[in-house]
Amino acid sequence: MKSPGIPKIRRNFASWTHSALNGLLPRHCLMCGGDSGPHNLCLPCSSELPRVNHACLQCGLPLSHPSDRYCGHCLRQPPPWQYATTALVYGYPVDQLVRRFKFGRSLACGQVLARELILAVRRRNAVPPCIILPVPLHRFRHFSRAFNQADLIARQVGKALQLPVDGSVLRRCRRTRAHSGLDAATRKLNISGAFDCTIPARKIAEFRHVALVDDVMTTGATLAECARTLERAGVSCVSVWVAARTLEPHQLAK
Ligand SMILES: [Zn+2]
Ligand SMILES: [Zn+2]
Repeated sequence: MKSPGIPKIRRNFASWTHSALNGLLPRHCLMCGGDSGPHNLCLPCSSELPRVNHACLQCGLPLSHPSDRYCGHCLRQPPPWQYATTALVYGYPVDQLVRRFKFGRSLACGQVLARELILAVRRRNAVPPCIILPVPLHRFRHFSRAFNQADLIARQVGKALQLPVDGSVLRRCRRTRAHSGLDAATRKLNISGAFDCTIPARKIAEFRHVALVDDVMTTGATLAECARTLERAGVSCVSVWVAARTLEPHQLAK
């Protein structure tokens, strides 16, 4: 008979060797290859990351006037969630980090994105949610990619902010086309009805305010569909926390 203590010992040993190796191995900056601190980026590369400082409270797009709290678009047509926190502008070198994380399975790149999101949530003093939910991948895509990038970021954010993370109540029930190359209207159509969510009535209080976590927000179609699905399931407040956000065409440097 297998001893119930063995997996725990093995896990502890694995985590001990992981920390010991982390302490011993030299760290190289993911961007320039130079010496880096414990965070996988050297100081100059880290200071050059395009961080979002002052942004619309509801969609996370950068605002140019310090006194503004919401952008014109959110005032006219707010998204189906209440708050958004975005850490970085999606463009060079953030696009490289995202690609290496998502398709090259570089966990170090994922750690940088998660860390930036944690810093952004703390910096903005974001309204604390009850629970964090990663945007789910369809099981076929999850299987072919071996991991869900949103889930990895969500777990690191949850650990740092001491918030529970649930990767099971919100599910992708329909397989959809990849969004790259699709315009906003096609993305919306493509993602419509792609998620389902069932929260047991006795647990609804634990899901009163949910923070949806994803690596990148482009048009926001996926997050909007998730937010609508959560609302139908009884969630009363949704925050969107994303590591990187693409800018609107008028905000891109000419
Ligand atoms: Zn560097
Ligand atoms: Zn806005």
